[in-house]
Amino acid sequence: MKLIFIGPPGSGKGTQAQQLAARHGVPHISTGDMLREAVADGTELGKKAAPIMAAGGLVPDDLMIGIIKDRLSRDDAHKGFILDGFPRTVEQAEKLEGIVAGNEGEKLKVLQLLVPDEAIVKRIALRRSCPQCGAVYHLEHNPPTKDNVCDRCGAGLIARPDDNESAVRKRLEAFHRQTLPVATYYKSKSALREVDGQGPIDEVFERIEKSLA
Ligand code: AMP
Repeated sequence: MKLIFIGPPGSGKGTQAQQLAARHGVPHISTGDMLREAVADGTELGKKAAPIMAAGGLVPDDLMIGIIKDRLSRDDAHKGFILDGFPRTVEQAEKLEGIVAGNEGEKLKVLQLLVPDEAIVKRIALRRSCPQCGAVYHLEHNPPTKDNVCDRCGAGLIARPDDNESAVRKRLEAFHRQTLPVATYYKSKSALREVDGQGPIDEVFERIEKSLA
């Protein structure tokens, strides 16, 4: 399985991508998680990315392409992967083609989760994330068993610094302006499948599995 997830911030793509990766035994590669790790570790990349992420903007293409090229060259990604949050611009999509072109096997599939903007703003206000293992919760639809504690690793949950309303509006704007053209790009190559991302997590997961079958 070589799959790209496209969807607005807060569309549930991280949650769905994680479940799908576990089910199919391929790595879940989230560029947002990789960047947050770099920020937490205080690396050069992290220092460059932190203010851009906090403001809801996009990290420059050349940096992102370098990161993904390194990640996809690792052994675990050779038999397949699920990309979550990459590509986010047409330039990234074009460069990705060069990176995976040498790989044999399955063609890239692209899945777009459709969720309207008004629903996104509401969802993100109730989103909590684990700064340690990256698990994501929704206080209403997918709450942790114990208030504010990660079920998976026991760390305290936080609202992501870029999950405030002004950053979310900017992230949505970046999605419409820079990432929707990526969906159009894959549509023109007949690689795109669109799935309704609204409703309970399990129902969305079933729709995704059906559309990929
Ligand atoms: P995410 O967790 O996917 O919502 O990503 C969080 C933030 O990381 C985004 O708002 C961007 O600032 C940055 N980011 C993640 N992936 C990319 C990418 N492929 N290109 C540019 N910026 C990215």
